[in-house]
Amino acid sequence: MTPWEKLEILGAAASYDHSCTGTGLSPDLPITLEGRRKIPGLYLAHTSSGRKLPLLKILLTNRCRFHCAYCVNRAGASGPRAAFEPRELAEVALELLRRGLIQGVFLSAAVEGSADDTMERMLAAARLLRHRYGFSGYLHLKILPGTSPELIREAVRLASRVSANLEFARRATLKRLAPEKEKRRLVAALVQAREAALELGKRPSLTTQVIVGAGPETDYDFLRTAQNLYRQGLLSRMYFSAYLPVSSHPDLPSPKTPPPVARERRLYQADYLLRLYGFTYQELLSPGENLPLDRDPKRAWAERHPEFFPVEITRASYEELLRVPGIGPQSARRILEARSEGGLSFEGLRRLGIRLGRAAPYLLLRGRRLPQNLSLF
Ligand code: SF4
Repeated sequence: MTPWEKLEILGAAASYDHSCTGTGLSPDLPITLEGRRKIPGLYLAHTSSGRKLPLLKILLTNRCRFHCAYCVNRAGASGPRAAFEPRELAEVALELLRRGLIQGVFLSAAVEGSADDTMERMLAAARLLRHRYGFSGYLHLKILPGTSPELIREAVRLASRVSANLEFARRATLKRLAPEKEKRRLVAALVQAREAALELGKRPSLTTQVIVGAGPETDYDFLRTAQNLYRQGLLSRMYFSAYLPVSSHPDLPSPKTPPPVARERRLYQADYLLRLYGFTYQELLSPGENLPLDRDPKRAWAERHPEFFPVEITRASYEELLRVPGIGPQSARRILEARSEGGLSFEGLRRLGIRLGRAAPYLLLRGRRLPQNLSLF
């Protein structure tokens, strides 16, 4: 099998892992290489600064000895299998970098043999890229379940970001659907990665993925897990992946169940509220609840809290402004700046980036309601 044939199998196999910034086959990238119509594994990631980063997202191997029921790569599943040698993988990435098709690499793997054996091979590919080929761009390494602390440390040393997938919020779901994985050890991998980053003088950049809709977890469970990990400094981002039915396991939704993409979207919105808006998961949901699908979680919170509104925009704190639907961190900062520079007017509010159609019903300006008919100003 040539390296490009392996790329077809192992690029497609990597598409199920969402624990990097954004996914989606890039429509902008050239789509031919070695006579092929498209290149599996090429994705356009969206960075936190809004930049688009073409990425090779690839598995070193999809031969797995684990039996995770929700995974196409599980032991015993049908489908083509392949594995790169570390040098082959590094050279494929290098060739794509040279051709300008990618600017970064996301490297993951199934667990072939032991976690440490496979992780060693991933690290060998990463070392070649970093040290032999001088690649200094974005490199994301997945920490495989069961990797030893020394190899986690080496991954943190080489990578721009590492991730360890928790998969589920509840221990019992993990045990049932991924019998070889232990929640305790998955969380420990994040702890060890954080400690390694701090020892190496790096800012920890850690992510994880959870699977939405495969188990009985509610959105409350996911957001509680996310907030706890954020508060302990163990996570930069949690990625939510709507379960795509791949098998007919009795504990999984039937293969005809559509992926819960609307639920995934609401979880991302709620996650923003936890990380950037000062909300807590308890404010958004009660135990056992899911987020409403027919409105975004911030509006749902505002509708449940009429006592908080209207907010007087000339006096509200940054934290209070962030609670208003239609006002985000950037527009809240601009409101504070505009206030310190002499004042706010109806006309000026639009220029500050406020989504007035949403925000107007929740605001007062010098004691007066904003016009609901915004075409008037
Ligand atoms: S460890 Fe589980 S989730 Fe990862 S590749 Fe193997 S079967 Fe799939």
